[in-house]
Amino acid sequence: DAPLAELDPQVHSAVRAELVRQQSTLEMIASENFAPVAVMEAQGSVLTNKYAEGYPGRRYYGGCEHVDTTERLAIERAKSLFGAGYANVQPHSGAQANTAAFFALLEPGDTILGLDLAHGGHLTHGMRINYSGRMFNVVPYHVRESDCLVDMDEVERLAKEHRPKLIIAGWSAYPRQLDFAAFRRIADEVGAYLMVDMAHFAGLVAAGLHPNPVPYAHVTTTTTHKTLGGPRGGVVLTDDADLAKKINSAVFPGMQGGPLEHVIAAKAVAFRLAATEEFRERQRRTLKGARILARRLLADDAGEAGVRVLTGSTEVHLVLVDLRRSELDGKQAEDRLHEVGITVNRNAVPFDPRPPMVTSGLRIGTPALAARGFGDEEFTEVAGVIAETLRPTPDMTALRARVAALAARHPLYPHLSGAAR
Ligand code: PLP
Repeated sequence: DAPLAELDPQVHSAVRAELVRQQSTLEMIASENFAPVAVMEAQGSVLTNKYAEGYPGRRYYGGCEHVDTTERLAIERAKSLFGAGYANVQPHSGAQANTAAFFALLEPGDTILGLDLAHGGHLTHGMRINYSGRMFNVVPYHVRESDCLVDMDEVERLAKEHRPKLIIAGWSAYPRQLDFAAFRRIADEVGAYLMVDMAHFAGLVAAGLHPNPVPYAHVTTTTTHKTLGGPRGGVVLTDDADLAKKINSAVFPGMQGGPLEHVIAAKAVAFRLAATEEFRERQRRTLKGARILARRLLADDAGEAGVRVLTGSTEVHLVLVDLRRSELDGKQAEDRLHEVGITVNRNAVPFDPRPPMVTSGLRIGTPALAARGFGDEEFTEVAGVIAETLRPTPDMTALRARVAALAARHPLYPHLSGAAR
């Protein structure tokens, strides 16, 4: 029962170093967030010891009475948060949630329509070497070159031409809201299922700040760790009783063995928190922060430095920066922001002339800083720091000091400092 520091100093010191990294830098990777301590407490609990194959009340192992309680709480809270009739909270990740949905709806070789990875889609939406691309006949749709918005005319045309069994609406890098009603109309016209992958914007949906896809989609999938701010994991939602049965059997025994009951308990906690006014207020700051950043990057001086904002704004928690006219490519811009203490990821822009490991863009998100307590004033300062860092010959020392001051203003996990986490 020795503490981690004694038992495994190498792992302990890496965990501590990661805590310090998170505390001292500004985390702006759009898919990341900071889980509340209560979520981490549930996730680090004795529930990790329990085997519970099956579902609450129908397990293949004894002793499941308490994990039945936590899993039922997670299911009921997920249903209520998103207004869904059925929820499966067992997928270990977002990719697993999507796999389960595909296994429930499709046969190998079926045709699926998804947003091209290079235009903001996710790997699991049909990338060539992902299982989705290998198992299914993938027809990608795109954003328009003129305005970088999803081309619904193309979606309709491709749907009519290829008659897919499934249309996927959802994205990993797209700064706008999708028209779920239009997707559903097209799906109905060609007899396809509609799946919405709301992994990125689920927190905004929970807060009522983004249209809820659940009433439009046959199946909705999500992660629980992005804007939703919970533990790493996935969820599948549906209103259809028959599909719910298929999804349950696709998750277990179709795809997974024992569920991660410690993570499921942490999901339950996150769903409870996501139903609070405090969470809604934080999501409002998330959205406002992204808009402040977009506006700053659209200002003249950033434009002169060749920094542009795809679609000219944002309706969600992230901004896509277009560096095609900048002296910096995506990798150089990511590295330079890293040097001043801001973590972002380089990201291909649609029709990117550079290779995926370099890219001509950045994806910058505000959820983690909003979780830290950042509001208008701090986001204005962050936006200024980013714009100045991306200009030619920035004063890196001064910028680093501004980042350090912002980090100090909203301490992260203060009571964990010195602890073994
Ligand atoms: N779906 C979308 C839209 C995503 O952006 C992601 C992750 O980036 C996933 C699914 C996969 O989630 P995970 O990394 O938990 O497998």
